[in-house]
Amino acid sequence: MEDTRFYSIAIRERLERRLNSDVYHSQTFAGVMRLVEEEGDGFDLAILDLCQADAANGEALDFVMSRGIPSIVFSGISSDRKREELLSRDVVDYVAKCSAGSIDLLMRAVERFLSYASASILVYDARGARSPLLESLSGGAHPFIVAARESEAMRILDHSEGVQLALIDADAGMADCAVFIDRVQQRYHQDRLRIIGYSTQPRDGDVAEFFRSGGDDFVHLPVTASELLGRIDHMLALQAHIHSLRRMASRDYLTDLYNRRYFYDRGPKLVETGLRQGQALAMGLMDIDHFKRLNDTYGHEVGDVVLKAVAKRLLHHVSNTPHMAARLGGEEFGVLLVGVEMQQALDCCEKLRQDIGDIRIVVGDEEISVTVSIGLAAITDEESFDNYLNAADQYLYLAKNSGRDRVFSDCQVARMAVA
Ligand code: GH3
Ligand code: MG
Ligand code: MG
Repeated sequence: MEDTRFYSIAIRERLERRLNSDVYHSQTFAGVMRLVEEEGDGFDLAILDLCQADAANGEALDFVMSRGIPSIVFSGISSDRKREELLSRDVVDYVAKCSAGSIDLLMRAVERFLSYASASILVYDARGARSPLLESLSGGAHPFIVAARESEAMRILDHSEGVQLALIDADAGMADCAVFIDRVQQRYHQDRLRIIGYSTQPRDGDVAEFFRSGGDDFVHLPVTASELLGRIDHMLALQAHIHSLRRMASRDYLTDLYNRRYFYDRGPKLVETGLRQGQALAMGLMDIDHFKRLNDTYGHEVGDVVLKAVAKRLLHHVSNTPHMAARLGGEEFGVLLVGVEMQQALDCCEKLRQDIGDIRIVVGDEEISVTVSIGLAAITDEESFDNYLNAADQYLYLAKNSGRDRVFSDCQVARMAVA
């Protein structure tokens, strides 16, 4: 619920782009009530301003909270007292609305909440978890699943991305814990899972050894439910924070596509796996034509809008595919196509080129459009990642030189040679 046009458009756009969720917007409390009646309990989260023409005293917040919908308050009232008061009422978060930058803070709060809210817990205990521990967990907000064997624990981690925390039995000895933690770290990224150990009688030095192996926290049994749940909450909040930092580090701020660093980090691994599995791969390099001229004519801000629109189309082409796209810098984008033969890769790039050509951006009473040139190189042998990009860059150069607004690859070069 937000009645300022600027904020409502910006928030909506970013929620839809980032979270791929359905976003409903209302300017009024009446609208909020109608939405909740229509959609029932289907809402995961509400974002609310405190004062509205038809609800000046936080009535909308009272209403959504009474329906059990978690709420983030996004309000122009920014006093510490208000913040304390709201947080004590179990509001998920309170973000002061004071500049465009506060939307970033809001988005972070939303992401933190959503990843945290969906988190579940793995209990790995070879003797079957002890009942007081499970009882305590039952009283908490997060679902949990118990595994008695390591293979079972790994299978759960493989299949349930939502498992973000493991509680592991350390009574069987620290060596077993160390082996488990090591397996998890070998198999996944080190940010995959936070790990809390528990033991009734840890020997001297055990806890220190647990931390050295890569464990995150340790609990002596028996433990009260409130302490256990408090530690779990703390770990999950930390995990959500790590995820949000990692996400930020891998994305380009303007377009939210992967950035160059991530492309260079993840790309070689995708190529290696693809080649090993005998898949066909191709590297595409796309550059907007005469973008400097567009900037010079309409200004940088319009240039940015165009960049975002181009990125959105590109993302649309790679989402739900094994391909990966990134903004490599300026107005240049990389696309790694995985599991497609050259003709199919060409068709894909050709479709992308046409789609981007169809974009219309309204500036005043003018409609502007852009074209892109794409260089496409097949990846057949194991070479350095730079080599693949260099090859694509050479084709991109040819595409630019032969008139722009086209896709260039081996096929075109061969055709030119024949002509
Ligand atoms: P060509 O068709 O040969 O690619 O010509 P071009 O003008 O697109 O290429 P050039 O490399 O000369 O210019 C790229 C321009 O992109 C220059 C730079 O100001 C602009 N640019 C780079 N990053 C951004 C950005 O983040 N936002 C905006 N608005 N412009 C950017
Ligand atoms: Mg360009
Ligand atoms: Mg360029």
